[in-house]
Amino acid sequence: MAFLPTTRAEMKERGWDCVDFAYVCGDAYVDHSSFGAAIITRLLEAKGFRVGIIAQPDWRRDDSIAVFGKPRLGFLVSAGNMDSMVNHFTVARKRRSRDAYSPGGQMGLRPDRAAIVYGNLIRRTFKDSPIILGGIEASLRRLAHYDYWSDTMRRSILLDSCADLISYGMGEHSIVAIAEALDAGLDIRDITFVDGTVYRADSLESVFDAEVLPAFEELQADRLAYARSFAVQYRESDPVRGKRLVEPYARDGALADAHGERYIYVVQNPPAAPLSTAEMDAVYRLPFERTWHPSYDAAGGVPALSEVEFSLTSSRGCFGECAFCALTFHQGRMVSARSHDALVQEAELLTQLPNFKGYLHDVGGPTADFRAPACERQLERGACANKRCLSPKPCANLRVNHKDYLRLLRRLRTLPGVKKVFVRSGIRFDYVLAEPDGGAAFTRELCEHHVSGQLRVAPEHVSADVLECMGKPPREVYERFAQLFARTNERLGKKQYLVPYLMSSHPGSGLREAIELAEFCRDLGYNPEQVQDFYPTPSTLATVMYATGVDPRTMNPVYVVRDSHEKQLQRALIQYRNPQNRALVREALAAAGREDLIGYDPKCLVQPVGKPEGVRAGGAGGRAGKQAGKQTNAHIGKRQGARVGKQGARADKQVAQAKQQQGAQVGKQGTQVGKQGAQAKPQQGVRTKQQQGVRTKQQQQQQGAIPQGSKSTASSKPAKHGAPRTSSSKRKHPPSR
Ligand code: SF4
Repeated sequence: MAFLPTTRAEMKERGWDCVDFAYVCGDAYVDHSSFGAAIITRLLEAKGFRVGIIAQPDWRRDDSIAVFGKPRLGFLVSAGNMDSMVNHFTVARKRRSRDAYSPGGQMGLRPDRAAIVYGNLIRRTFKDSPIILGGIEASLRRLAHYDYWSDTMRRSILLDSCADLISYGMGEHSIVAIAEALDAGLDIRDITFVDGTVYRADSLESVFDAEVLPAFEELQADRLAYARSFAVQYRESDPVRGKRLVEPYARDGALADAHGERYIYVVQNPPAAPLSTAEMDAVYRLPFERTWHPSYDAAGGVPALSEVEFSLTSSRGCFGECAFCALTFHQGRMVSARSHDALVQEAELLTQLPNFKGYLHDVGGPTADFRAPACERQLERGACANKRCLSPKPCANLRVNHKDYLRLLRRLRTLPGVKKVFVRSGIRFDYVLAEPDGGAAFTRELCEHHVSGQLRVAPEHVSADVLECMGKPPREVYERFAQLFARTNERLGKKQYLVPYLMSSHPGSGLREAIELAEFCRDLGYNPEQVQDFYPTPSTLATVMYATGVDPRTMNPVYVVRDSHEKQLQRALIQYRNPQNRALVREALAAAGREDLIGYDPKCLVQPVGKPEGVRAGGAGGRAGKQAGKQTNAHIGKRQGARVGKQGARADKQVAQAKQQQGAQVGKQGTQVGKQGAQAKPQQGVRTKQQQGVRTKQQQQQQGAIPQGSKSTASSKPAKHGAPRTSSSKRKHPPSR
C-alpha cells in the first residue's frame, strides 16, 4: 500500500478531487505504527475515508496548509509524537539542537506550541472547516494546565488553538466516531457525545451528569485550586467509572452574554474504552509502509524511526502510576494487549525486511511486563480511585502473571531469522518480585535470553519520601531485585549488569534526599553517566506537585526545587565522582550540614579542597604541583600503600592551612595551593577502592551491580556483547516506568 498523498498531484493520481481529511502534523511523515499520525490516518483510510498528509507545514505561510484545498470533512491536527515544547527545549529551558522526528534530525521545522499555531493557521484560512486536535500535546493540555516553559497556568488548548474538538488519549474509537458523524452530515458543534473528546459549550443546558471543576480564573489565582482540580481529573481518567468534567472560563471581562451566561465551558467527556485485543490486532495490522516518506531520503531519513523500526508494540496502558509519567492521564491505567498470533505475524514480517539483522529490539509497551488489566475488579468497576495497584506495595487483588509474556517471548525467539529478542521497554521489578516464586522463573528467562548485557530498570531514587511522591516501591524492593538479578546471572554464568535509572530534583527531593541517593551510588560503586533531571511536562502528578507545592492526592505539602542552582547541586551529588562537580558537591554538603562527607574517609564523597581549584589558583605552581602529583602517584601506587594514613593526615593539615590562607593572599596562595596540590595528590593517588568509597567487587555482586566473575565495576556504559546496543545511554523522555 502506497503512502498516503502528500501533494495535490498525488491526490489527483488517486483520482480524488479532494480529501475528506487533511492531517496536519508537526512530525515528518513516517508511516509506522509507532507514530500516532500513521495509526489514525491508516485507520481512517481503512474505514473508507480519503486522507491527505500535510507534514511539518511552514507555519509562516498561510498556503502551506492549503495543499489539498478545503477538505470535505475537516482538518486533523497533531503536534507530533511528543509535546512540541518538550521536543524543542531541555529541562533547563535551553533550545535543543536536534529533532529526532524531523528529516535528518533538523531542528526548526515545526513551531513551538505546534497544535495552537497550526489550529490558528487553519482557522485563518478555512474559517468554517472543522478542526480536530489529537496527539499527546493536545491530550495532556486538554484542560487548564501548568505550563513549565512559561511558568503559568494556561487555558485548555482547545480554546487557544481555535479547534472544535480534541480527541484525547488513545484516539482510534473517538476519531472513527467523529469521522462517521461528520460524514453523516452532523455539524461539528453537535458532536458532543463521543467518549474521549473535549468540546466547547456556551452553556450547561445540554451537559448532563458532569462534575464542575474550579473555573480557570480560580486556578490562576490559587494554585491549590489547581491541585484540587487535577486530583479530580486524575481520579476520573478511567474508562469504566470516569465522569464528564466541566471547566468554566469567564467570558472576556467577565461580561455575561445575551442570555446572562458569564462563562463558556470546556467539557471533557469520559475516556474512550480501551481497544480490545481484536481491535488492537486490527489496528497494528493496517498496511503501514513501516518507513519514512521517500521525500526524506536525501536528508538521511527520520532518526526517530531507528528506535522503533524493529520493535513490537505489545501493549498499551499502565497501572504503574509513576507520578512523573503522563501515561496514566493519556493512555490510562487499563492495560490492553495484542494477541501472540498478531505479534508473531508482525515479527515474521520484520524478518523479511532487507535491513533486518536478526534482532528484535523490544517487545513491550509503557511497561513491558504488563500484559493484562491489574485485576478483575478494574474491569468491572474501574481502577481504584484512591489506591495504587503497586505502590507502596502490590495490592492484594493484583493479578501477577508473567507467564503470558514469557510464552510470547519464547515464540518470538524461536522464529526463523530471529537471533535475539530484547526487552528494553522497561520492566516493573516490583511486579516481577510479586510473583509467587519471587520472580525467579521470569528473571531467569529474561537474563538467559532477553538482556543484551545490561538491563535498565528504574528505581529512580532511594529516599523513602521521594519514592512515595514518585509512586515507586521502597528502596529495599530494588535491592531485592538487584540481588535476584545478580544471583541469576551468576548461575547462568553471564556477565550482565543492572543499570538503575535515577532522577534528581523530583518533588520531595531536597539536598538531604539527594545526598542519600549519592551515598547509594557510592555504596553501589555506580557512577551514572546520565542523570535525568525531573522535567515538569504537562499534566503529570509530579508536575502538579511542582506547580503547587502539594501532592494533589493528599494535599500534603511537598518540597519542590525550582531554583536552577539547587537542581545543579542535586545532579552534581549523584555524579559526585565527576571532577568538575567537586565544588558543587562540597557546596551542597556544606549547605546540608553534611561536612562529614567531605574528607578522606572511605565514606566521603569529596575531598576538602578540590584539585581543580588548587590547580587553577596555583597557575604555574598548580601545574607544576599537578605534574609532581602525577609522578608521586605512580611512585606511591607501586610501593607506598602502607604510608597512606600518614600522608592523608599530612594532606589534611596542608589543606587546612590553604583554607586559612585564602582571601587577601590570593597571588601568593596560587603558588602555595599549587604546591599543596602536589602534596595532596599522593594521598588521592594511593587511596584504595574502599577508601574511595567504591564497593568491593564482592559487595557489588551481592547487590547485582556486577555479576560474579566480572573484573569491571558497574558502569552505565553499554556492554560489548556482540549484539546491537539496546538503547543509547541517554535516557528517552518522557520516562515511562
Ligand atoms: S483493586 Fe488493587 S489491583 Fe485492582 S485496581 Fe484497585 S488497586 Fe489496582
